[in-house]
Amino acid sequence: MDLHFECTQCGQCCHGLRLTLSVDEAIAWADNGHCVEVLTEALPYHPDDHGETAQAGYDRSRSFPAVSGEMPLRIAAVLVAFHEGACPHLRPDMRCGNYAARPRICRIYPLESRPFMNVSPERRLCPPEAWAPSNPCLMRGDHIADPALAEIVADHRRTLMDDVPVVASACAALNISTAAFANEGFAVHQPDGRYLSAELKRAKSAQSGGPTPQPWTVVTNRESTRSLLVEAGCIASTTRRGPSYLGSFADDV
Ligand code: SF4
Ligand code: SF4
Repeated sequence: MDLHFECTQCGQCCHGLRLTLSVDEAIAWADNGHCVEVLTEALPYHPDDHGETAQAGYDRSRSFPAVSGEMPLRIAAVLVAFHEGACPHLRPDMRCGNYAARPRICRIYPLESRPFMNVSPERRLCPPEAWAPSNPCLMRGDHIADPALAEIVADHRRTLMDDVPVVASACAALNISTAAFANEGFAVHQPDGRYLSAELKRAKSAQSGGPTPQPWTVVTNRESTRSLLVEAGCIASTTRRGPSYLGSFADDV
C-alpha cells in the first residue's frame, strides 16, 4: 500500500529525540557545543554465523568484535545528538536554523533509518494531516518513492557502517566499556564533547593501531538476564532505568 506524506513543519521531531549521527556529523555537533551521546548495545556473537540472514549480516556490519569475560560479543555503538526539549537549532517559527548542514537523519524523518523496518505513522510524531492521501507519495509499497530521498537513506546507512572502526577506537580511548544486552535497551554514555570530538578526529586520521580495547561489561535491569549472562561466562551487572540506561523493560532488580 502506498503511503503519502508532507511535512507540516510542526517541529515535533525537533524536540527531545536522539538523532543518530555519523562521525563527521557528531564532530560538527560536539564542536558547536551541543551534546553527543554514545549508545551501546552488546549483540550475541555466533562464530559459525556468517551472515546467512540479512539481519545477521546487518548486525555484523553495524558492530565491532569485543570480549566480556570469557564471552565473545559484538558491540553496536551509535553516536546520537541529544537535547532535552527543543533542538538548539530550532527557531521560534519551528524552522531549522541549521537547514543546510542538518544531519542526514533530519532529512530522512519520518522514514526509517534502519533497514527491515517499514515506516509507521503510529510510531512517528507527525500529525494526522501530514499523512493525508492527497499529499505526495512517500512510500510506494516497500520502496521510497523519491529516488533522491532513497539515496540519502542509503548513504546514511552506508556511512554509519563505514564509521564503525572509528567509533570503536573512540570508545576504547574514552573508556566506554559498558553496553546493554541486545534488544533490552541501550547503555548511555555522555563523554565531554571536546574529548569525544578529539578522539573521533584522531581515530579518523589514524592509519592503524589505536588504544587497546578493554573488556566489556554487559548491563541489564533484569536479574534473570544478569544470571544468564554470568552463567555463560560474561561480565554482567545490573542497573536501573535512568539517564545512563534506556531500558525497554521495567526494572526487575
Ligand atoms: S538540526 Fe534542524 S531539523 Fe534537525 S532536529 Fe535540529 S532543528 Fe530539527
Ligand atoms: S514531526 Fe513530521 S510533520 Fe512535524 S516537523 Fe517533523 S517531519 Fe514535519
